[in-house]
Amino acid sequence: MTVRAVAAIDAPDDADIGDRSTTFERLLPAIAAYRRDERAPFPVYESGTIASETESLPGAGVGLEPMLDELASAIVAGCRVAAPGFFGFITTGASTGAIAAHAAVAAAGGQRYGLHAFNALERTGLRWLAELCGLPADTPGVFSSGGSTANLVALGAARQWAFEQRGIDVAQDGLPGGVTCRIYASERAHRTIHRSAAVLGLGRNAVVAIPTDADDRIDLTALERALAADAARGVVPIATVAIAGTTDTGAVDPIADVVAIARRHGSWVHVDGAYGLIANASPAFQPLFDGVADADSWIVDPHKWLATGLGVGATYVRDEALLTRAFAEGEAAYLEGSFDKGPEPQAQFDTIGGPWADQGVELSAPPRGVLVWAVLREIGREGVARRVERHVAFARHVAERVRGDPALELLLEPALSVVCFRYRPSTAADPNTLNEQILARLRRETGFMPTSTSVGGRFAIRPIFINPRTTLADVDGMIDAVIRIGRELDRQPGW
Ligand SMILES: *Cc1c(COP(=O)(O)O)cnc(C)c1O
Repeated sequence: MTVRAVAAIDAPDDADIGDRSTTFERLLPAIAAYRRDERAPFPVYESGTIASETESLPGAGVGLEPMLDELASAIVAGCRVAAPGFFGFITTGASTGAIAAHAAVAAAGGQRYGLHAFNALERTGLRWLAELCGLPADTPGVFSSGGSTANLVALGAARQWAFEQRGIDVAQDGLPGGVTCRIYASERAHRTIHRSAAVLGLGRNAVVAIPTDADDRIDLTALERALAADAARGVVPIATVAIAGTTDTGAVDPIADVVAIARRHGSWVHVDGAYGLIANASPAFQPLFDGVADADSWIVDPHKWLATGLGVGATYVRDEALLTRAFAEGEAAYLEGSFDKGPEPQAQFDTIGGPWADQGVELSAPPRGVLVWAVLREIGREGVARRVERHVAFARHVAERVRGDPALELLLEPALSVVCFRYRPSTAADPNTLNEQILARLRRETGFMPTSTSVGGRFAIRPIFINPRTTLADVDGMIDAVIRIGRELDRQPGW
């Protein structure tokens, strides 16, 4: 069948492809308005704020400027994880320099392959980030969309290694039948470890939950026991995970001890440092990460403490060839086949410009290294260290205030910038329910947004500090609000 061309062959595209700086200028007032309200409560998006939101697919487009005006209203009503009082989950927005880097990528460097400036900065970003986190010099790495993918890639390498030890190329031939595989991690392991196990064909149940000690760190005796018992049964240890900063409480597993135990049982060691590994940039916290350079794989999320904006995770694997065996896509005529076979590249697209397409699960990918480069070029290692130290000081400040107030109770001493506490009801009221109510009212009525977790079965108010724009006044404001709302609810029966 021949499809008849119906558009004029010499007509311009409908999308504006001009280079008009006024495009960005048109959005600036909205960006200012978004920032102006940054300490207000977190409103639910009001449907219809963006004119076309509920309309059906437009036949004819409205053109660039009317679209930009709607985009401006989306900015004003946009996502508030970047607000200085947002202390939830482990997420924040981009710093100003990183916002500029995002715009630069969109305007001039949408792919990480080829030999161009953003491709070069991909390497620089990976190299600087590894050094910042205290990894061995020249550890190869690959960026991906975040910790979820980064863990999958690292554990994919671990699985490849474990089976190569047994003469099996699992990436090529698949998992053999009749073997049981295990991944050992504390019960605080992030759920993306379990999902990685599922995707890798091991099953979520392959992740063994090792209990934690009083500091919420992996119990070493229990870890040793689990590894030894499984070894006696012929279980294949895929990896032992050391968490460098748990998502719930910020606890850092004793990495050197985990490495020593795992080595005794022939296990790969993976460090999940999505949140906390950045703290190794500060000499003050380096003792917490003792032994980190001895692991086999690591992940870290620049979109958390480095505030690059969402969509940036990094995996490092000591053995680059192994990582490539685990994830190689294989050559394609249309891709590698089109590159120059000569010794020296003469043009931007004479070569693919990097190994990353064969070291993860993405071929096309934005050059994320430029975001890391931009942040580190702007503030350096010392700026990162000062940010980490300030944020940990915020957590300790909360702990101090909590200890000094009989209405509050500290549930765990903060190791990094996460702190878990709760309001103590004066009556026999259930503290879990009371604190859930406090949190709900904080979210609705104030510009402070901690989230929660559970510490030994107790519902904890759990602020985390990673946002460069948070001030001590924001931290104090949150505690004041918890006390005020706690008192109101405590006095009023029937909440
Ligand atoms: C945040 C986090 C992840 C998941 O990272 P995403 O970037 O949200 O996909 C994994 N592990 C730990 C320890 C984390 O804190």
